Amino acid sequence: MRLSAMKLSLPESFLPGQPSVDFTVKWSTRRKTIGLQVTTAGELVIAAPLGTPPETIRQALEASQKWITRKLAQRREALNRIDAGKAYYLGQAYPVCFTAKNRQTVRLIDGKIHLNSSGSADLIWHLLKLWYLQEAEERLTQRVRHYARFMKLRVGPIEMRDWKRRWGECRPAARMLRFNWRLVLLPPYILDYVVAHELTHLAVPGHPPRFWRKLAKVMPDCLERRRWLNRYGSPFLLWKLEVETAAKVPNAAGPLKKMPRCSYKSID
Ligand SMILES: [Zn+2]
Repeated sequence: MRLSAMKLSLPESFLPGQPSVDFTVKWSTRRKTIGLQVTTAGELVIAAPLGTPPETIRQALEASQKWITRKLAQRREALNRIDAGKAYYLGQAYPVCFTAKNRQTVRLIDGKIHLNSSGSADLIWHLLKLWYLQEAEERLTQRVRHYARFMKLRVGPIEMRDWKRRWGECRPAARMLRFNWRLVLLPPYILDYVVAHELTHLAVPGHPPRFWRKLAKVMPDCLERRRWLNRYGSPFLLWKLEVETAAKVPNAAGPLKKMPRCSYKSID
C-alpha cells in the first residue's frame, strides 16, 4: 500500500552537469527494500519501505548514481527525438493539415496527415485516435497472421488496448493477444518485434533463455529491436497530438495558413 508521496530534489553536486533532479519518494508498508525507477515521463521515483531513514535513502541514491544519470540522459534523449510539430505514423513524423468540412475524416495523402474536423481540440484528438486504432487493428491483425503462420501457432482473439505502460500482452489459456494501438506510431520493424514477442509467449510463458532462443529463430535481431523499444519507445506511450485552442477551429474556407502547434504532453 502506498501511503504518500513526497517530492524532493537532488542537490546539484549529485548529478554532475545537471542543475538538480526532482524525485518522488513513495512510501510502502509492503516493500522490504528500496527500489529506483525512471518513469516514461523521465521522473525519478524511489519506492521505500515506510520508516526508511533519510540517510538510507541517500545511500541508495549514491550507490545508483551512475545508473540514475544514464537513465535520465536516455529518457531525455528519447524525448528530444520527438518532433513536436508532427503526427507519427509507422515511425515517420508527418505534418498535419487542418481543414473544416462536414465529414470528420483523417487521411494520409502526399506526405501529410489531413484532419477534417471543426470540433474542439479534444474532438480532434479523439478523431485522430480512432484513425490510429483502425490502422493499428488492421496492421497488427495482418502481422499476427503472418508470423503465426510462419511460427505454426494457432491464435485466438486479437484486441487493441489504450495502455500507458505496456505494448503487448499474451493470455496463453485463451490464446488471446492484446496490443497497444500506439504500436502504429513506431517503425514497422518494432511493431513486428512486439507481435513476434507476444506470439512466442503462446509457446513459452515468461522470459527464460528458451523464450529468447525461440524468438531469435524467427527474428535473429530481436534483442536489437528490443533495445530500440526500451530506449526510444517510451515517449510514444504518452504521446498526444495537442491542438492549440487558438488554432483548433479552422477557417471553413480552406486549410489553415498557420499550422497549429503539436507537442509532446506528459500525462503520466
Ligand atoms: Zn514478454
